[in-house]
Amino acid sequence: MAAAAQLRGLRVGRHGQGVRLVFDLNRRLTAAPVIRSVGEVLHIELPGIQHWLGRPVVPALGPLQGGAEMNESAAGLVLRLPLRETVRWRSFSLGPRGGASQRLVLDLMPVVGTAVESSRSHPVAGAGRPIVVCLDPGHGGHDPGAIGARGTREKDVVLDVALSLARLIRSTPGMRLVMSRDTDRYVPLMDRMHLGLAQRADLFVSIHADAFPERTVSGSTVWALSQTGATSAAARWLARTQNAADPLLGDVQSGVHDLMLNEVLINMTQTAAMNAAAAAADLMIRGLAGVEDLHNAAVQHANFVVLRAPDVPSMLVETAFISNPQEEQRLRDPDFRQLLARTMHDAVLAHFVNAPPADSAWSATRHVLGKAENLADVADRYGLSVEALRLANNLPHGEGQPGVHLRVPIMGA
Ligand SMILES: [Zn+2]
Repeated sequence: MAAAAQLRGLRVGRHGQGVRLVFDLNRRLTAAPVIRSVGEVLHIELPGIQHWLGRPVVPALGPLQGGAEMNESAAGLVLRLPLRETVRWRSFSLGPRGGASQRLVLDLMPVVGTAVESSRSHPVAGAGRPIVVCLDPGHGGHDPGAIGARGTREKDVVLDVALSLARLIRSTPGMRLVMSRDTDRYVPLMDRMHLGLAQRADLFVSIHADAFPERTVSGSTVWALSQTGATSAAARWLARTQNAADPLLGDVQSGVHDLMLNEVLINMTQTAAMNAAAAAADLMIRGLAGVEDLHNAAVQHANFVVLRAPDVPSMLVETAFISNPQEEQRLRDPDFRQLLARTMHDAVLAHFVNAPPADSAWSATRHVLGKAENLADVADRYGLSVEALRLANNLPHGEGQPGVHLRVPIMGA
């Protein structure tokens, strides 16, 4: 077995809004570093590395609180850096060049996006943390997304739907809203994915409007990440085109130099998040079936970058085809966009009625429908819409039978 690689130095400097750490090594790492944030501490595991010099000096700079704890073991070196704020990160290797040694570069950046606490209280309060919903309107800034025949831009339509949905989530007790963007600006795909991770989102919803060369194609599609990859050739094509929106990522995919990306892919072995995503996506598509023709009646699976955050149940909603003239017309209608937002909110509520996170402010209980009650009374009492109540309980249209057991939420403030 080869001698362990050695860490010969660590340099820390400002880099953009964040900091850059450069680890000088005597040779290339044999395995990807494992980087994760645990509370306010960043753990960096360098497999197969022995430390060579004195203690690394880490100044208080940007998100770094200053100081580092270091442990060496047979498996490698572990560094723990206390943080002042939540960060996202990326890492890559640089070969020896111009007299420099082998380097591992780790960039830490403050997390973008706005976290907004839900403010309205509710009479039925529970303990626990708020449920975190992350909304991700697609495209933005220099990236208009798809453009309809009348010039309607996907980035504008999906932002408007997302802002309406955001208002509804903000007014839901026991929920916290996070958005990847709430203005017309470009956000790289990796930043969107990291936001869901860093904010420990219980649900990540990416919102888009579809386009297809054939103008008659119409309807909604809901995508969830699949471990095994794409459902169909169309899904593979779509994943390629969506992922290609990020020039950095294009580079990463061809070269696979980004160790963080490897790590994310490795961590995807957890299936709980994917099962939750599939359940939520199923409710979303059943909800949308009430307002919009479905392009695909079942949840589709694809390998989108924005859906790849480990442990974050994630879905991508293609609201309608902006390339279809009738659907472009509908997407231009503020009432239709509002209806889409309400429907998506119903699906989000129904998902958390069915599967409230264990440590969250939400829990579920049963309500037996009384003789003098209708569904609207029950929905009102538990802070739901009738549609959300129907979705959560898989009720057909029409009134529920007296005596039927309805699953309803207890929402924390
Ligand atoms: Zn899009």
